[in-house]
Amino acid sequence: MIPSKNPFSIIIYGRPGSGKGTQAKLLARKFKFEHFSSGEALRNRQKVGDFTGRKLAEILNKGKWAPECIIIKIWMDKLEEFKQKRNFRGWIYDGGPRLTLETELLNKTFEWHEWQKNIKVFLIDISEKTAYNRLTKRRQCKKCGELIPWIGKFKLFQKCPKCGGELIRRIDDNPEAIKERLAQFKKYTIPQINYFKKQRKLIKINGEQPIEDVFKDILKHVQ
Ligand SMILES: [Zn+2]
Repeated sequence: MIPSKNPFSIIIYGRPGSGKGTQAKLLARKFKFEHFSSGEALRNRQKVGDFTGRKLAEILNKGKWAPECIIIKIWMDKLEEFKQKRNFRGWIYDGGPRLTLETELLNKTFEWHEWQKNIKVFLIDISEKTAYNRLTKRRQCKKCGELIPWIGKFKLFQKCPKCGGELIRRIDDNPEAIKERLAQFKKYTIPQINYFKKQRKLIKINGEQPIEDVFKDILKHVQ
C-alpha cells in the first residue's frame, strides 16, 4: 500500500463532461483518499450563519465566484484536518484551483505540509465537441439528483439506477449555458493547467475512452 509518509496530492482537471468527478470518486474509494471539491466546501461554508456564510450564499446564488482569500482559508483548514488523520494517504482536489493566485498558493501549501513528493495533476482530456455532446446528452434523476453521464452505462438505463426516478435533462445543461462553461474553462482553467505543465507535474489522460479505461490510465500513475 501507499506509504502515508508521502501522501498523494492529486488534482483532477477536465472540461465539463470529462467525467473528472467520477474519476475523483473512484480514486478516493480505491485508495481511501480524502475528496475535496471547492463547490462542496463552499456550500458547507454557507451553512455557518456568520457574515462570510451569508455573503457567500448571496454571491454564489448570483453565479459569482468566491474570492481567493475565502477559497484558500477553506483549503488550509481542510488540509490541516487531513494532516491530523492517523491513516491519511492522500487527498484529491476535484476540479483544481481556477485562479492563478490560488494555484500559486496551493503550491506553497504543498511545501508547508511537506507533501511535495507525490503531487499528480491530471487532465482528463476531451475535445470541446465531445464535452458539448456529452453534456447535452447526459441526464439527471428528477427525484434524487443523481447525474448520469452519457458515457458508461447511461444508455442502459431507463430510470435512475439509484432510486428508480425519472431521468431528465439538467436545467443548466442547455446549449447556451454549456457554451458559457466551456468558455470559462478556456479562460480560467487552462492557464492553471499550463502552470502545472511548466512544472512538469501535468499528466494528460485520454478522456474520450470509456470510464473504466480512463481509470486504468490514471492508476498507472498512482501506484
Ligand atoms: Zn434517483
